[in-house]
Amino acid sequence: MTCEDLAGLLLPALRGHLAATDAEAIGAHVAVCTSCAHDLPEMQRIWTLLDTWEELPPPERVRDQLRSHRPRD
Ligand SMILES: [Zn+2]
Repeated sequence: MTCEDLAGLLLPALRGHLAATDAEAIGAHVAVCTSCAHDLPEMQRIWTLLDTWEELPPPERVRDQLRSHRPRD
């Protein structure tokens, strides 16, 4: 697994929607990759904050900002 692979799995992983094999692969990568091992707790923290934040409907101005920051394909 590469760092890019891990990034692709991170969203479902942090949401708790992850196959056991993928979870094992993430664990194995983080065990050998200091960069991802360092980033993972921070990603989890950010995602927890986002989860909390999503419980409240964002103001229209914030939704506009989110729409303008949506990554392009
Ligand atoms: Zn990595």
